[in-house]
Amino acid sequence: MSVRVVARIRPLLKLELDKDTIVEAATAGSETIGSPTIVRIPNPKNEAEAFSFQFNSVYDQKATQQQIFDNEVAPTVKHLFNGFDVTLFAYGVTGTGKTHTMRGGKTLAERGVIPRLLSAIYRRSRKTEKDMSGETQVEVTMSYYEIYNDRVYDLFESPEKRTPAGLPIRDNGGKTVVVGLTERPCTTLKEFEQLYDQANVNRSTSATKLNAHSSRSHAILCVKVVQSTGDQTRISTASAIDLAGSEDNRRTDNGKERLVESASINKSLFVLAQCVEAISRKQARIPYRESKMTRILSLGQNNGITIMVLNLAPVRSYHLDTLSSLNFANRTK
Ligand code: ADP
Ligand code: MG
Repeated sequence: MSVRVVARIRPLLKLELDKDTIVEAATAGSETIGSPTIVRIPNPKNEAEAFSFQFNSVYDQKATQQQIFDNEVAPTVKHLFNGFDVTLFAYGVTGTGKTHTMRGGKTLAERGVIPRLLSAIYRRSRKTEKDMSGETQVEVTMSYYEIYNDRVYDLFESPEKRTPAGLPIRDNGGKTVVVGLTERPCTTLKEFEQLYDQANVNRSTSATKLNAHSSRSHAILCVKVVQSTGDQTRISTASAIDLAGSEDNRRTDNGKERLVESASINKSLFVLAQCVEAISRKQARIPYRESKMTRILSLGQNNGITIMVLNLAPVRSYHLDTLSSLNFANRTK
């Protein structure tokens, strides 16, 4: 089982161009040339002083979608086809680039890690089938759901048809399953993209309907890869999670609804951090049963790879939130 925690500092947005940048990427040791592994940020109480946080890798404002994919995600595809699970998280305050990293924009260059991963999965499926002269068949299916206030909603279900209580979860032979969750086969990238876009429309409509921004729910995409050779099957899952914004909503809004949301977001992010920490320290006990999300993902239960991308904004208005994101990620090492 392995974990990588990487930080990505997004560029300044158009509206921020006149703002100063307070978060920067640095290499370890002043003489070292190489890729950055350090994030530096001023101490808010004494700006003459800076805090440094070290990660497996740090991407600065110039990093492209392609670089993030090539360096962090592409190497996991072979493990996926060897039967291991791959789990990718985007963690960070709302507005720091989680959705950009995961889903990305419309142009080819702006595509995020999810469409790139799927493209790589299909490429490898065709190659595997060809190398095995047709004796192995690879099937890909997807499910996509969100967890909002600790309730599970199928993103293939239109928001009007949702049961407010969400879908039940149940233990089934050591695995936790979401009862009634749609699983759709998708045989080509095009098919995947159509389903993914359709489900993302449901995500934004539900956000409007519940009077809650999508930043308050975790969006969890699970792509199952089934390789069959004769009567042998090998199943592995790639999961990509666009987490709820990590900001403390209590600071900006004291409504009762917000408090309930904050409590469930905080708890699930807290348990997630504990699980990631336990995995990276190779501890025997991983507290994955303590939140719905980590339980459904069976986080750390399969010999797999977990990658956490910590998204950061470079500007001062995020200073305290950025610092708490960095402290959060620091605990998971
Ligand atoms: P989040 O999902 O964390 O709330 P978004 O992904 O929506 O944040 O990003 C906020 C804004 O910043 C969006 O307009 C997005 O297009 C832009 N953005 C984020 N990261 C980048 C990046 N690496 N390059 C260019 N624009 C980015
Ligand atoms: Mg988002």
